[in-house]
Amino acid sequence: RFTGTLEINRKDEIGQLAQSFQKMTERLSENDRIRKEFISDVSHDFQSPLLNIKGYADLLKNDDLPMLDRKNYATVIQSETERLSSLTKQLLLLTSLDQLSSPLHLKSFRMDTQIKETVRKYRWLSEEKQISISVELDEVEFTGDPSFLEKVWENLISNALKYTSPKGKVDIVLTDYEDRVRIEVRDDGIGIASEHLSRIFDRFYRVDESRTWEIEGTGLGLSIVQEVVELHGGDIHVDSNDGVGTTFTVILPKL
Ligand code: ADP
Repeated sequence: RFTGTLEINRKDEIGQLAQSFQKMTERLSENDRIRKEFISDVSHDFQSPLLNIKGYADLLKNDDLPMLDRKNYATVIQSETERLSSLTKQLLLLTSLDQLSSPLHLKSFRMDTQIKETVRKYRWLSEEKQISISVELDEVEFTGDPSFLEKVWENLISNALKYTSPKGKVDIVLTDYEDRVRIEVRDDGIGIASEHLSRIFDRFYRVDESRTWEIEGTGLGLSIVQEVVELHGGDIHVDSNDGVGTTFTVILPKL
């Protein structure tokens, strides 16, 4: 049994072995740190809606409660339950993306039709906020995982609508190239300050709580988007000016 210490600076095979053990240990403890942080974030995100639900349910038991309060408390319980439900759905989706073997089920489908249907799904939000959406889509027959890619459009389009003020504008462009497609989702919304740009794809990261806390969200959407795009061998990048607007560009290679 080897009991001495391995000298990392040695140039021979033993040195190389020591170095790779060192890297492996670093990576394992980094994974452990990420896992712990993730569990603590998840617990925290579940805790506050649960506390609200419990608190308002307790209040509802009071027989003398006026009808108006009763309705308001029920509304809080409803929206907190919805929040827990969308959090759970997103966590399940992230777990399915983390599988060791490729989770993608490839199929050929019309990408332009899928994007158009996603826009239609959020019509209620664009109408409510009077945001005009312009859609310019090349016809594209694409091979990829349609159910995961649908999540990409859902997150990018709903974010563009969420983080844009009423009467704003959102543009969605799908361009077909020989070997790849490019999807741009542009908005003239609140924008993202440069110091946050590198972190918005991190799990649970939300910019400036004080500015966004009234906007529903979990901070998981963009991490899902990035994972799905990368599993397809693609790339995503973001351009944004604080207070001016944001553009997300996705490039996906054709198989
Ligand atoms: P969320 O559920 O909070 O929307 P995301 O992971 O989708 O989570 O986005 C992370 C954060 O990035 C958001 O909380 C928001 O601060 C910022 N963000 C995302 N998209 C936009 C956008 N189109 N305009 C401005 N900020 C955005």
